[in-house]
Amino acid sequence: MANKIQSIKGFYDVAPDIQKIWRFFESSCLSIFDQYGFEEIGLPIIEATDLFEAGVGTHTDIVEKEMYSWVDKLNDDKLTLRPEGTAGCVRAVVQGSLTYNGPIKLFYRGAMFRHENVQKGRQRQFHQLGVESFGLTDPSSDAEQIIMLNRLWKALGLEKKIHLEINSIGDAADREKYRDELIHYFEENMDVLDDDAKRRLHKNPLRILDSKNPLMQDMLDKAPKLIDSINEEAKNHFNTLCQILSDNQVNFKLNKRLVRGLDYYNRTVFEWITSELGSQGTVAGGGRYDYLVERLGGKPTAACGFAIGIERIILLLENASLGSSFYPDIYIVNLGNESRDKAFMIAESLRDQSYKVSVNLDSGSFKSQMKKADKSNAKIALIIGENELKNKLIQVKLIRKDGSQTEVKESDIISFINNNI
Ligand code: ATP
Ligand code: MG
Repeated sequence: MANKIQSIKGFYDVAPDIQKIWRFFESSCLSIFDQYGFEEIGLPIIEATDLFEAGVGTHTDIVEKEMYSWVDKLNDDKLTLRPEGTAGCVRAVVQGSLTYNGPIKLFYRGAMFRHENVQKGRQRQFHQLGVESFGLTDPSSDAEQIIMLNRLWKALGLEKKIHLEINSIGDAADREKYRDELIHYFEENMDVLDDDAKRRLHKNPLRILDSKNPLMQDMLDKAPKLIDSINEEAKNHFNTLCQILSDNQVNFKLNKRLVRGLDYYNRTVFEWITSELGSQGTVAGGGRYDYLVERLGGKPTAACGFAIGIERIILLLENASLGSSFYPDIYIVNLGNESRDKAFMIAESLRDQSYKVSVNLDSGSFKSQMKKADKSNAKIALIIGENELKNKLIQVKLIRKDGSQTEVKESDIISFINNNI
C-alpha cells in the first residue's frame, strides 16, 4: 500500500459532526449581524507582505515571527498568507472608496495563517469572523459592536462561559508619553523581567503588560496604567461607552492592563475571555483603530472592529445541543431497483415540499435499513417493497412519535406526511 500522506502540523480537517457546530455558529452570526445592519465583504487570502508590515506593525509577534511569507517565483512580489483580517479589510475599503457615501459596517470570515506553537486553541490555520465599522467616531459605534457580540453569546448559549474585559489606551500622544514612562518603570525592575520582556523593552513595551509569566505578575500589577493618564476626550469617550454598555445590561470588567497585541489600536480595546481554554482563553478581541485607514493610504477615517476566533468558540460549543436542524425529516427504506426508483421519485416530491429526505442507497436487508432509519434521527420512515410497489402503497412508520406503522396510498403520501410530521 502507498504511504498515507498526512495533513501538515497545525492544519486541521473539520469532521462532519464538528462542521455542524460551525454551521450553527455561522448561521447565528449571520442572522444577528443582519439584525444590526452589518454587510459581508469577501477578501483575498493572499496580500502584499507590505500591507501587514504597515498595518499590523513590524514589532508585533505576528510580523516578527508568525507570518507565512514568500517571494513569488514569477515576478518577485513579496506575498503573505493573511495572518488577520483587519489590514486587508482596510485595504479593500481604501482601494474601493467604500466610505465615499458615508460610514459603512462590514464583516468578513475565513482562514487566517500564523506560524505559532501548536496547542489546543492555537492552530497555524485558524478561522476568524471579523467585524469592522468605518467612519464612525462616536462611542456608540464601539458599544453597538459589543452589544451585538453579547447577543451572539446568548444565542449560542455561551453567556455564562465568557466575560468581557475592556480598557482604553487613549490616543497616539498618550501612548507615546506612557511608553517612555513604562520603559522607565521596567528598567527599574530589570531583575524581574524575563528574556521575552527584555527583548520587547524598547520595541513594544506595552505588550509586556500582556505577559502571562507568573513571576512578573506582581511587578506588572504595580506598573503605571495608561488609562490613568489619557486625554480628556478619550476619557469621555470611554466613560460614555461604559455607560451605554451598562444601560444595555452588558456586564464588563475594567482591565487596566489590557493593551492587545496589535499595533493599530487606540482608545477602546476589549476582549471576551473564557476560563475553559487555559492560556488560549481569548475568544474574541477588538477595539478602535482611528489611525489605520490613514496609515494605509486612505483619508483619516475613524474605525472600530473585532475578530472572533472561531475554533475556540467551537471548542466551547462541543457539548452544545444542536436540536433537530441537521436530521432528515424522512428516511426511505427500499428493497430492490424498482423500489429505489420509486423512492427517488417520492423523495423528490417531498423535497419539493421542503422536507429533508434521505433515501437508503445500499442494498441492505430490511432490518439493517430500518436500523439506519432509526439512527438517522429521522421523524418518519417510509418503506417501499415489492408488495407496496404492486399495490401503489407506502408503509409509513412514525419512528419519533409512537412507532406506529400505517399503510398509506401513494397518492396520499404528501398530505399524510404534512399531517403527521
Ligand atoms: P492570543 O492571545 O491567543 O495570541 P491574539 O491577540 O494573537 O490572541 P488576535 O490577533 O486579536 O489574537 O485574534 C483574534 C482572535 O483570534 C483571538 O482572540 C483568538 O480567539 C483567535 N486566534 C488568534 N490566533 C489564533 C490561533 N493561532 N489559533 C486559533 N485561534 C486564534
Ligand atoms: Mg497571538
